[in-house]
Amino acid sequence: EQDPRISNISSAIRVIPDFPKPGIIFQDITTLLLDTKAFRDTIDLFVERYRGKDISVVAGIEARGFIFGPPIALAIGAKFVPMRKPNKLPGEVLSEEYSLEYGKDTMEMHVDAVKAGERALIIDDLVATGGTLSAAIRLLERVGVHVVECACVIELPELKGREWLGEKPLFVLVSST
Ligand code: AMP
Repeated sequence: EQDPRISNISSAIRVIPDFPKPGIIFQDITTLLLDTKAFRDTIDLFVERYRGKDISVVAGIEARGFIFGPPIALAIGAKFVPMRKPNKLPGEVLSEEYSLEYGKDTMEMHVDAVKAGERALIIDDLVATGGTLSAAIRLLERVGVHVVECACVIELPELKGREWLGEKPLFVLVSST
């Protein structure tokens, strides 16, 4: 049975067709942030799931993983590690290339932000093809971090991101068809 908070969260997400280009149905979480109850419920649902799971790292993906990740990290007593676009982090970084619908992008992480053996949760606003989450998993696993789960507010199930993630568990609040 679905948690009663989910339907409010779902209604607070604004859907904008043909943004940023024709054919893309953009899921806009900025309206969720305006709804104080829905925003709080979103964070609470993640915190309820991950509290007490011995997670020491919340890795948030630029840019909207930087909105949801930090309050979850603080609430579960984990550190927050930003997974950034290239050439933004000033220290020594590890990089991973990943494919986008058109072309490629790169994600970077500070190597000294995590230690081998730590347990991590990866957060983003939305999973589409799963390419972005996969790059984040690879970055963390390259330094010996165990990725416990990936969590997003929204999943676009038609794009089969779950299949890309293979065995890695994915937790989402809202599925958008
Ligand atoms: P993917 O790597 O294909 O799973 O794409 C996920 C990333 O792209 C996330 O960081 C999302 O914020 C962004 N994204 C992809 N599709 C959408 C969409 N329809 N609406 C909003 N954000 C999207």
